[in-house]
Amino acid sequence: MRIADLHCDALYKLDRDPSLGLGAPAGAGLDVTAEGLARGNVGLQVFAIWVPPATPRTPESALRQAELFHGRVLTAPGMRHVRSGADVEAVLGPAARGTGALLSLEGADALRGEWWALRMLHRLGLRMLGLTWNEANWAGDGIMEPRGAGLTKEGRKLILECESLGILIDVSHLSERGFWETAELARKPLLATHSNARSQCAHPRNLTDDQIRALVAANGLIGLTFVPFFLRTAGTAGIGDLLRHVEHVCALGGASHIAFGSDFDGIETYTQGLAGPADYAALTEALLARYPEPLVRGWTSGHAQRFFTDHLGT
Ligand SMILES: [Zn+2]
Repeated sequence: MRIADLHCDALYKLDRDPSLGLGAPAGAGLDVTAEGLARGNVGLQVFAIWVPPATPRTPESALRQAELFHGRVLTAPGMRHVRSGADVEAVLGPAARGTGALLSLEGADALRGEWWALRMLHRLGLRMLGLTWNEANWAGDGIMEPRGAGLTKEGRKLILECESLGILIDVSHLSERGFWETAELARKPLLATHSNARSQCAHPRNLTDDQIRALVAANGLIGLTFVPFFLRTAGTAGIGDLLRHVEHVCALGGASHIAFGSDFDGIETYTQGLAGPADYAALTEALLARYPEPLVRGWTSGHAQRFFTDHLGT
């Protein structure tokens, strides 16, 4: 069964360590390797540019990771650049081959409100953007910012600029107020690439039931994530915990909107049985043991395929 994964942070690790590459064997420093993606039958992997808070967040820092995407991700065996609905069909459709790589930006900090930098990243393939990481920036407040404000005037402009360029908006990490303001402003459906259900694990990074219902009502996409502390608050997280979140989103009417966003290479601890893309094979088996095949096919890639085909444009 083909897989679509809505979020990983391999670009950040590639930026930090020039010796790393997707072609290296699993265990050599990256969770996401060409070999792991092939073994897990991953047809679409989103690669997020993420510039950590401690480093200067400038357009240059984001462009450098975009260059790594071209120079060290797309050059790996079997990789294909995904920019359009047709590209999505080629990697997730009936005659699919290889792994598609889609470029996103996690937190608009580095853009510093420079619209040329957004346009340049779009030319380099940027097709998805989250306005914030955890804290506040020029565009709005992240979910861990205590004041909990929403979008700035410039942040509102960013959403409109993204929509006119054809860049989809990711609401994972955004403050709750920012989420609702974005939902009201956006003309295209939104997606949360790596968040779980807060009622199942009380972490602020997870979505409230109202947020899940709103994403479902707007025909959006919810990428459930393998971050262990977003799956359960204490004890060892396992695939069973992920199934609990799947079950809850289904109970809220979201069965047709579930996808997965692993957060591989963005985590230091792992959910048992989910340590890299190759483990999607075991996850698929666990899902098939409990749910009908058409439903599982939707979660593993069908819903992401539909979403990106409908909204990426030609
Ligand atoms: Zn993240």
